[in-house]
Amino acid sequence: MSRADIARELGLSPAAVSQIMRRLLEQRMVEEVAQAPSSGGRPGSLIGLVGEAGRALGVKVAADHLVIVNVRLDGQMLSSTTLAFDAMAPDALARLAAELAPHTHLDPGLPKLLGVGVAVPGVVPRPDKGIVDADVLQWRRLPVGRHLRGALGLPVVVENDVNALAVAEVLYGHGREADDFLVLTIGRGIGLSIVADRSVYRGGKGGAGEFGHVPMDDQGPPCQCGRHGCLEASLGEPALERIARAGGVIGPRQGFAALVAAADRGDGHAVEIFADAGRLLGRAVAGAANMLDPVRIVLAGEGVAHWIHWDATFRAEFARRQVRGGDGIDVVVHNWDDSSWAQGAAALVLAAPFDLDGFGGEQANLVVARLHGSDGADGTVE
Ligand SMILES: [Zn+2]
Repeated sequence: MSRADIARELGLSPAAVSQIMRRLLEQRMVEEVAQAPSSGGRPGSLIGLVGEAGRALGVKVAADHLVIVNVRLDGQMLSSTTLAFDAMAPDALARLAAELAPHTHLDPGLPKLLGVGVAVPGVVPRPDKGIVDADVLQWRRLPVGRHLRGALGLPVVVENDVNALAVAEVLYGHGREADDFLVLTIGRGIGLSIVADRSVYRGGKGGAGEFGHVPMDDQGPPCQCGRHGCLEASLGEPALERIARAGGVIGPRQGFAALVAAADRGDGHAVEIFADAGRLLGRAVAGAANMLDPVRIVLAGEGVAHWIHWDATFRAEFARRQVRGGDGIDVVVHNWDDSSWAQGAAALVLAAPFDLDGFGGEQANLVVARLHGSDGADGTVE
């Protein structure tokens, strides 16, 4: 952005912005990146973040593995590691800390480490506290934040994985041009994050966005939440697998991958299973869109790998069910890979300095202190 645009955005005088920018330039936190086109007069330079000014460690916790990434302040990923992990083990927290520890050591080849972001498939009432409830990990009120802060001596922010992904979209992805949008994830479960005015809506206790458990049909299939007929009980990978098995599309010992392979080679019944799923998802998402009026829907999650089989019926049903007609809600598919969840986790830390009143709480202040180097570079945080 130009200094003039920054001043406008913040409601500060151009003189104040120039003074602040001079300091940030001296601290090598921002740099002049290009010349803005100007009408006639002296061209104004554009200000951008210095990627090397800091980095965050992001970790996605799944039931059977971890993905750990290093991400620079400007969102560029420096490394990605996938490790086997047993979330149900009694010492899971100690093991998580042990796997993260080598990545936190001072490395002159890497930018300064600002903190650790953790993404979990569960509910986190306060990201700065980091107490986690996650059925799929069998974690009940587990003090993830406190444990990792103690073990690593760094700021730690913990958040629901779909919300973490939404934070990354706001900062670096499809949310850069959209203030109000939804992130919809498909895979084993169905998840949703609501971004309103560039902030993730978390609800009263951090549990907003349990879209997979929208009740659809009381007589429907059992859901892992213990109820019947939730959306996810009809659309999650285990549900589609069960339908395929019952219909003889895949053998009794075959799994979801066999269903995808059958659809890929044009098996009519397999194609129909995904088409039905697309239709049901389109109907449900239209309901969410009617209620929340987003300008964009970002599709993400492991399931987007076979989105081609959902797309046509999803779009048709989604358009048909919108009360505001086809006034153009953008549906975009995230370019997904296994590190995307962990990049979302890192974004929790990298977003904190820019959102001090936000979810990062006290941890955000600690991240800012490290960014300024006032804690003594890579020393521990009190
Ligand atoms: Zn349910």
